[in-house]
Amino acid sequence: MHDDPHIDNELDDMTARVRALETILVEKGLVDPAAVDAIIETYEHKVGPRNGAAIVARAWSEPDFADWLREDANEAIASMGFVGRQGEHMVARFNTPDEHNMVVCTLCSCYPWPVLGLPPTWYKTPAYRSRAVREPRAVLKEFGVTLPETTHINVWDSTAEIRYLVIPERPEGTQGMDAAALADLVTRDSMIGCGQPLRPETP
Ligand code: FE
Repeated sequence: MHDDPHIDNELDDMTARVRALETILVEKGLVDPAAVDAIIETYEHKVGPRNGAAIVARAWSEPDFADWLREDANEAIASMGFVGRQGEHMVARFNTPDEHNMVVCTLCSCYPWPVLGLPPTWYKTPAYRSRAVREPRAVLKEFGVTLPETTHINVWDSTAEIRYLVIPERPEGTQGMDAAALADLVTRDSMIGCGQPLRPETP
């Protein structure tokens, strides 16, 4: 089943309506397109992914919480207050030196909104959706992620039923950092599996 509201290659009804509304509001001078872009930018890069980063940082700091995430990501994530549409059926996949996890929606753009915000544009492109499955290692390389040949790559296809959150490996040199400082290292792309967390700045 794949019956969630998709944005595929052509405008669906909702997208068409939103676009029509935006056009009218802009023409009448009621909204500033730059302001709308700024709001979208905020949700894509700041508000949304910060929730996921808080989850990852807690998983890095608290082994019990990490176990809870492995066993029941829905409950563990809901316990932090991150609930809502497109986040009802969460599964957390933990990266290890042997296994790297990467998320795609091959059919459209399913994405865990409550923990990552709005999907980035590239996530919705036909190129990413097909190539992530066919040649994940090459795609990762384009994102600047080069994995050892011995690391197996699991590609998880999101659906209306299951949304994935990748828990990247905790970077070296982060001993003693608190959860807030750790969360600052967690990038959006690292939680899709298309990036690595930042390294702590050397003093
Ligand atoms: Fe989808």
